[in-house]
Amino acid sequence: MPRYDFRCRSCGATFELRRAMAQANDPATCPDGHTDTVKLLSTVAMTGGSAAAVAPRPSAGGGGGGCCGGGCCG
Ligand SMILES: [Zn+2]
Repeated sequence: MPRYDFRCRSCGATFELRRAMAQANDPATCPDGHTDTVKLLSTVAMTGGSAAAVAPRPSAGGGGGGCCGGGCCG
């Protein structure tokens, strides 16, 4: 099962979750219980500081839908 890196925008913590790919874009909760988290692109060096472009993917059915999927949605 793939691992995904997340970052909490409330406390700044980063953490990993193992979940099915179908759940990759589901909301994650940080170890401290915050829900304001963003998914990071693992093994991609964060350089420059601007948001990395993410190739659009067809949304899987059953989700909330409507999100850009890049973690930039407020
Ligand atoms: Zn947190």
